[in-house]
Amino acid sequence: MRFKEIGWNGILVRVPEDMRLTRHGGDHREGIFLVGSEDSLIEVSWIPISKKSKSLLEIVDKITNRIKKEAGKKKMDFKIRERHDTVVNDHKAVYLLLDYGVKERYYIWRCPESNRTVAVRFFFRKYDEEARKIIKTLIDTIECHGEKYVWSFMKIRFETPKTFLLNATEIKSTEMNIALLEEKLSTFEERKRSIYVKYFPAANVRFKDTYRNLEEWFKKNYMEEFGKKILKRRKVSFKIKGEKKLGSHTVLIEESKFSATFTRRGKEICSVALWYCPERNRIYLFALYTQVYRPFPFKIRLKAEEHEALFNEILESFRCH
Ligand SMILES: [Zn+2]
Ligand SMILES: [Zn+2]
Repeated sequence: MRFKEIGWNGILVRVPEDMRLTRHGGDHREGIFLVGSEDSLIEVSWIPISKKSKSLLEIVDKITNRIKKEAGKKKMDFKIRERHDTVVNDHKAVYLLLDYGVKERYYIWRCPESNRTVAVRFFFRKYDEEARKIIKTLIDTIECHGEKYVWSFMKIRFETPKTFLLNATEIKSTEMNIALLEEKLSTFEERKRSIYVKYFPAANVRFKDTYRNLEEWFKKNYMEEFGKKILKRRKVSFKIKGEKKLGSHTVLIEESKFSATFTRRGKEICSVALWYCPERNRIYLFALYTQVYRPFPFKIRLKAEEHEALFNEILESFRCH
């Protein structure tokens, strides 16, 4: 069995290659994602640990009570077949085997490093050797905290600082985009940085005439929409900054700079990386957009080197096939 990674909101799991991210919700504080195949379902969820928050056992009881109640409504017998202590990613954890006609397995633990209580729920149509291997692999290798957030899904992978939080996402079979946002507000300054990642599948068919010339492709197919949607500007123009190697791909880098709008004093810089991946037949777009606003008479400082360093760091972390 071959495994692949799914990284989402600071949790990284390894699941069989045929399983897909089917649903997701919430954010880094409190959220959920599901990966599934025809015969199995894995649900990863997390809630914040707060000062008032309950002990792990209380959370375990809450989960079992909820399922017991649901099973009761459907007049199904509910049993806790197994319940014992275990360890996940060096955290003390509880394992549960629940039975209410179907059997579900749970691992629940607290991760103080990410300040979250994490629960992983497994459901298999058939609990066999393969299912056991899936659980073992996931539980043995799950990462619930780390230096950076690893985003890995739809055969794309990149790493971001933990200060960037999920802001918007759209995942369909034909389209994918994700936006992460970091905001720093102080009395006299507003500083925003956003990461935007998108890909365009079936590129050689959809963009027959331009997929080999990304400058042309961008201008013709996406720059205007990008300007409106992401930069909130009707007119944008980009300048070529250069090229970079990413594995076997050549990445085109473009940049756009803006200063004050009519209503606000600010400086903005947006760097865009574009590349065509023949292995997946996708055009990828990664953008970093830095915005700084300050009222008069303060001087507006936008550190272009810092912006560029982060842009390069994230770009180098990309795996696209
Ligand atoms: Zn952890
Ligand atoms: Zn690639």
